[in-house]
Amino acid sequence: MRLVDPALSKLGGRALQAAALFCLMLGSVHAFPQAPAGIPRDLARFRVQQLKDVRYQLSYTITPRADSVSGHEEMRFVQNADDRGILPEWLDFREGSISSLTINGQAASTDTQNGHVELPATMLKLDENVVVIDFKAPVAPAGKAITRFEDKDDGSEYIYTLFVPMDADMAFPCFDQPDLKAKFKLNVTAPQDWTVISNTDGHETSGENAGAAGQHRIEFAETKPISTYLFAFAAGPFQKVHDTPGLPGLFVRKSKLQKAEAEAESVQQITADGIKYLSDYFAQPFPFPKYDMVMIPGFAYGGMEHAGATFLREESILFRTAPTHSDRLNRDILLLHELTHQWFGDLVTMRWFDDLWLKEGFAQYMAYHTLNSLKPNENVWKRFYQAIKPAAYAIDSTQGTTPIYQDIPNLKDAKSAYGAIVYSKAPGVIKQLAFVVGDDQFRDGLRLYLKEHAYANAEWNDLVRALERTSKKPLGPWADAWIKKRGMPQVDVSLACDRRQGLSSIDVRQHDVLNQGTIWPIATELLIHQRGIDSTTTISFATTKNGMLVRPGCPDYVFGNDEDQAYGRFLLDPVSRKAVMAQLGSMKDVFQRTLLWGSLWDSVREAEMDPREYIDLALRNLPEEQDESLAQSIIGRTITALHRYVSPEVREQLAPKMEALAADQMLHSPSQDMRITWFRALRGVAETAKARGQLKDMLTVKLIVPGVELRPLDRWNIVESLVAQNDPDATAVLAAEEKRDPTGDGKKYAYMARAARPDPETKKQYFDEYLHDAARPEDWIEISLGSFNWWNQSDLTLPYLAPALDAVPQVKRERKIFFMLAWLNAFIGGQQSSAAQKQVHDFLNSAALDKDLRLKILEVVDELDRTVKIRGKYR
Ligand SMILES: [Zn+2]
Repeated sequence: MRLVDPALSKLGGRALQAAALFCLMLGSVHAFPQAPAGIPRDLARFRVQQLKDVRYQLSYTITPRADSVSGHEEMRFVQNADDRGILPEWLDFREGSISSLTINGQAASTDTQNGHVELPATMLKLDENVVVIDFKAPVAPAGKAITRFEDKDDGSEYIYTLFVPMDADMAFPCFDQPDLKAKFKLNVTAPQDWTVISNTDGHETSGENAGAAGQHRIEFAETKPISTYLFAFAAGPFQKVHDTPGLPGLFVRKSKLQKAEAEAESVQQITADGIKYLSDYFAQPFPFPKYDMVMIPGFAYGGMEHAGATFLREESILFRTAPTHSDRLNRDILLLHELTHQWFGDLVTMRWFDDLWLKEGFAQYMAYHTLNSLKPNENVWKRFYQAIKPAAYAIDSTQGTTPIYQDIPNLKDAKSAYGAIVYSKAPGVIKQLAFVVGDDQFRDGLRLYLKEHAYANAEWNDLVRALERTSKKPLGPWADAWIKKRGMPQVDVSLACDRRQGLSSIDVRQHDVLNQGTIWPIATELLIHQRGIDSTTTISFATTKNGMLVRPGCPDYVFGNDEDQAYGRFLLDPVSRKAVMAQLGSMKDVFQRTLLWGSLWDSVREAEMDPREYIDLALRNLPEEQDESLAQSIIGRTITALHRYVSPEVREQLAPKMEALAADQMLHSPSQDMRITWFRALRGVAETAKARGQLKDMLTVKLIVPGVELRPLDRWNIVESLVAQNDPDATAVLAAEEKRDPTGDGKKYAYMARAARPDPETKKQYFDEYLHDAARPEDWIEISLGSFNWWNQSDLTLPYLAPALDAVPQVKRERKIFFMLAWLNAFIGGQQSSAAQKQVHDFLNSAALDKDLRLKILEVVDELDRTVKIRGKYR
């Protein structure tokens, strides 16, 4: 990058000298004369050219209950020069305060501007620089990089860091970008009974460094080079659970030790098996000196893969509801996802968050791949389809979708990159990629990529090049469509049969769902079902939109994506749909059954199939459906259809049938997993006095799910339903449950249940708190958003739709990554009317919004658009 004005270069040598002198007199040439807002990509690129060998030595002193921690930092980096000489640098530091700053031994200004501190060029030197800083960083229950959790069960205090994507600079002054990897050396002084966990092993120091009375100091070994967002620590009276040689460390807060003991071994074992499997698969040993997992209550995500120290949401590990087999497998997936990141994300890191999919897509894909190898009888690829594809297709057919590669000009917008595109579409597309290049070539490509970029950074084209080398297939056109273009194909397969000649023709054609003219390279397995026998044919489209297959015989049905190899919307043609609906109950292959149920649901959402027809089909087939996760998804969709897509009259007619089926199956299904599944169904659908009565009997244990003990959140979910339905006993039930469960969790769940009260005062009070109460933990708010926007309270919540939309810039600024989607899904998703739809679109037309926010709203309003369309069509 050159900053010399082109006009200057036309001047003679003397003028140039004068100009240079003028610059010197001003102080220096500055690549970024004003402190930029956030961290622009240009600043990050500039710094990567200027700096290397970054090291942070950080000392924190933690005082219980204080609203800040004090820190001492010695930071070292090697400064390069270009033809302009040494240029000044901006160090990132937000929301804290600096009391002293020295650069190479000289005192410097501690002023911060726009979240940056200037390191003047005159104080920097070529080669190694040492910057020493004393600072304070904020600690709060929500909204900061260092979060405090107060355990209401025993009064203990815990603090932990969470920096991704760019909050490390709220905890210490740094160059907060993923491609300036650094070595960290941390020590923490904390109360004597606290444990501190970080990226490496720590040991207690003695002598003059031991800390004041009642405190101790833990010193951690220096890390390998890692990105700032992967550095972390957690501190408090954590306990190590089931400490067993050969198994990774697992930490939990003191008050949950007993509960954790029961779950620890399976959590540690799947992780240990995963480490072994992935080390072999990637041909790279575990890349960091140790691996611990720390359970954090109310953690903002399922997990965060800090190098060597994954933090996990406690609620995702220690189940708050009676768990089913699928719940346990989903936990395995979470653990393997975070584990995969140690290689994909931590060892090799994306250069910038535009390539977020590189780590998230692969972690998600490899979690299923690994579980499939470790537990081959669990039909893992069926689960992959169920967990991954619907979410991906739901966003990818909206105007709010983005390519997998997402342009992010400033890191402050990186939070918006998180969502179904990276977590669902990317793994779906990666599965297709593995199918296209072949399993062995795929594995070898990943090995090559990890080896070539170990402890460094890479971009998506590095990965594509590695896969091209191992597969010897050109992947340019493939990557161009799937990584750089937004949207997806719909593949229509239509079947015509000439019975006299005994020949059928199958026409396969794709179209671009967003009508942007993209032709998608697709390789898929076409399923042909004829007289009880399945056969498949592989079809590849590279550059064409359609193909025709003529074959002997007349199939009953054809489906375009057997085994879910391809990515796209695959609907059934009318002939096949009729046959499938008649035969679903007798289909033996559960993966096929799952795919076809999924395709029928896509037809409902496309307003091509009456939602009432889907509900009837579900009511007919569900009593025989013994696959737990398939039953769960059919039940969930049936309830969605009842609550959103059909008219109130149809709902009043069909809901009691669903209630009766749920109650019967809950009591009589031979499988415990199914009884739990049906209990949840009853809780979700109950609206008649009879069903509400059954729920109340479950709270007083007059009615029990055979063999199942309800856990606290099961009970609170019942309370929430009763409150939302305005049951006459709701107030008494809520009070009784608060008395029965006075724990910290109980208080949080009571907060959730109360948000469902169908009265205007409650809604007003909650909404004010959402935006103005800084002390309310973020996870309390997040779990109450759905209760606030209960499906039958849209009249009460409609007045909050506009204020909720107005608040999105604040939400973006103050909340963690996934909160925005929860917020929009709750407030927009709580509505079903065309009046609400109009409000959202009017807002989109009139508000000045950041591009990422506009896209998020467009993504979420799609479901409301569909609801209005379906209700209009099938009234
Ligand atoms: Zn992840």
